[in-house]
Amino acid sequence: MSVAEYMHLCLNDPRHGYYPNQTAIGREGDFITAPEISQMFGELIGIWVLAIWQAIGKPNPFILAEAGPGKGTLMADLLRATAKHPGFNGCAKIKLIETSSAMIKEQKDRLSGHLDNIEWLDNLDQLEDLPLILIANEFLDVLPFRQFIKTKKGWFEHCIGLNENGRPEWVTGTAMPDLQKMPETANSASDGSVFEMSPAREAWMQLLSERIVKFGGGALLIDYGHARSQFGATFQAVRDHKQVDPLETAGLADLTAHVDFAALQRVSTEAGALASQILTQGEFLQMMGLAERAGTLGADKSTKQQVEIRSQAERLVMPEQMGSLFKVMAIISPEVASAVINIPPFCTIDPS
Ligand code: SAH
Repeated sequence: MSVAEYMHLCLNDPRHGYYPNQTAIGREGDFITAPEISQMFGELIGIWVLAIWQAIGKPNPFILAEAGPGKGTLMADLLRATAKHPGFNGCAKIKLIETSSAMIKEQKDRLSGHLDNIEWLDNLDQLEDLPLILIANEFLDVLPFRQFIKTKKGWFEHCIGLNENGRPEWVTGTAMPDLQKMPETANSASDGSVFEMSPAREAWMQLLSERIVKFGGGALLIDYGHARSQFGATFQAVRDHKQVDPLETAGLADLTAHVDFAALQRVSTEAGALASQILTQGEFLQMMGLAERAGTLGADKSTKQQVEIRSQAERLVMPEQMGSLFKVMAIISPEVASAVINIPPFCTIDPS
């Protein structure tokens, strides 16, 4: 089977799949995400959402959606920050796009104060026809992707089969990739080179972009990945905060791959949306005022708590931690382009 089929089964099978059956996120789970590191992450995204809502003319009502909301922490922190702005929370119809019932339960607990205003959906195409502001952190990386490998006879799909002992192993399949979607150097790449592409992510991005072009709004996408399409295998499995072999841990580990943001930029531009540049998470959070927020949050706290807040902020922005591998990209409806030029990641980086 293709990596995409393997990934879909491992993550989503109701009986044996990872998301329906395992504790994924948090110290007691398998991996930790930015909103679980610090409340400042969700608060700054709240400020971003508020700025976009103002830029698109404060529509009432509008949809505030999150794809893959995990434990609901990001949305809870976001809503606490936006509640300080009169009117915003009352205009927002909150939609959480989530496929795992175990995760929905956690989201209901965390967002218990907002349940009257939240609807759960399992797909983007179920959203109402209204202006949309969507956020997604570490969501795109869970969507299935395909791997292709260069052999002496050209590029073929890299698939997963079973060896004579019934154990999974890598095999070369027969499907060939669309070379138009690969870097120009694909033909001269050395044997054994790997290229990953995700039709599922691209289809999702196209649907999102079309919606934003048609009904107005914007979206903020944060994930680990690269700003330019490139060769290399990034398929990984994480269990108990450690990397493990993705073929040996079916259903027991989180499976992800790096997101090719350049491919998403292309898809959204073709659909008529305005795509931002791609910033690192470190650049984005600093431009959004992380240092100032950390200062305010720590102002009336003990020295120990201030040290903790500083180390959380560093973890989010330092290049050797989450600051540079994680990338941030946004899209917006083109008619409001001039209203977002001062909002990261649309604004240009100050060279100083
Ligand atoms: N955004 C959260 C969680 C990231 S983990 C955070 O930053 O902490 C990925 C999330 O996406 C989980 O909640 C998982 O259940 C959900 N998910 C996985 N596949 C999905 C799909 N196809 N559609 C919607 N949600 C999905």
